[in-house]
Amino acid sequence: MKVYKFGGASVRSAEGIRNIARIVSGVDDNLFIVVSAMGKTTNAMEAVLDFFMKANREAAIQRLSEVEYYHDLVITDLFKDKKIGVKAVKPLFDELKKIINRGVGDDYDRWYDRLVSYGEVISTKIVSAFLEESGINNTWLDMRGLLVTDSNYREANVRMDESQVRLQQAADFNQNRIYIGQGFIGANIKGEPTTLGREGSDYSAAVVGNLLNAESVSIWKDVPGILNADPRIFDNTVLIPELTYLDAVELAYSGAQIIHPKTIKPLENKQIPLYVRPFGSPAEAGSVIKASTEHPIDVPVLILRKNQVLVTVRPRDFSFVLEESLSKAFAVMNKHRLKVSMIQSSAISISVCVDNTRYLSGALDELGNDFKVTYNDGLELLTIRGIMNEIVEKTTKNRSILLSQRTRRSGRFLMKEI
Ligand code: ASP
Ligand code: MG
Repeated sequence: MKVYKFGGASVRSAEGIRNIARIVSGVDDNLFIVVSAMGKTTNAMEAVLDFFMKANREAAIQRLSEVEYYHDLVITDLFKDKKIGVKAVKPLFDELKKIINRGVGDDYDRWYDRLVSYGEVISTKIVSAFLEESGINNTWLDMRGLLVTDSNYREANVRMDESQVRLQQAADFNQNRIYIGQGFIGANIKGEPTTLGREGSDYSAAVVGNLLNAESVSIWKDVPGILNADPRIFDNTVLIPELTYLDAVELAYSGAQIIHPKTIKPLENKQIPLYVRPFGSPAEAGSVIKASTEHPIDVPVLILRKNQVLVTVRPRDFSFVLEESLSKAFAVMNKHRLKVSMIQSSAISISVCVDNTRYLSGALDELGNDFKVTYNDGLELLTIRGIMNEIVEKTTKNRSILLSQRTRRSGRFLMKEI
């Protein structure tokens, strides 16, 4: 069997969903389809949640009806018989409204998972119903009952053993050749919904591939494959046809938006190749990530990660034992879910580069108990692999560099526009 994953951009319009039907109808193998929420639905649901948490039910319901309207437009365009589409999603929007009207927003992360996870439930209902209408039989699955996770809300980890039993039973390919499930979502052992981290649908696809021993996993995207740089930021990008798992992990860690960092492990563990394929031109090969490649990457790779913060901590009492300070500071950062992408230590301080997330201020507060804390925000982290001086010069022009690290093969520059 194969796993196909379609992201938010692929399902954002009726045309996109028709294209999924075209791609799927050309496949003879057993297929598990993983789908994200449509377009920017996850962001919109985050806005619904924010109003809900502020106990502004009216605004939350208003925002939700905009989400419903958007889905209704797509349904109107998509189905020959609109009633089929409406029937698929109406009960879900009703459920959501009920939750918003009755629930009391206490724990943000837990409510996030409960509400925002509906984006994927809704999109998969639409895709599944449309495939049926188009004569492509399929079974819709609720991943909130199949992927068992821990209770680390908003960034849950899948428990592979428990999930395997459930998923293999649900998707046994006896009844049907095609199954559809949501990316991004699961539930803890008590059945409370969880989400796997923003852009987590890739991770879901990889987990499904692992649990069902897929022959391959394909992520269909609105790019030609994996490029050596983000074409929205850099000129003259080129396609990288083959990468190793290790290359992919490094790129994802440096902030390449192409795949979610957690995606590789479940695939590497079972040596399942991951294809990144162009949604708009399904006949093209795209890129493949696998155990070994015949052609190592021979172009420089550039990755720009925005919205970075440089945090520097120095023990208050001037006594600096690096190992002790490091473990203390990292324990706090880990607790507050900060993702550290660069570390530097000096005689009396430690500096780290982290994403600017909503957890940052809590972490800075707690670090302040033991350390004197300073920080710079609004920074960009540029990673260059296959480094060449002219590229460094060109890409760091008009930037002041706050921190840089270089090895023979690569360079990292934490910088600010001037
Ligand atoms: N819908 C989720 C998000 O936008 C998950 C995903 O698209 O992968 O983050
Ligand atoms: Mg997405």
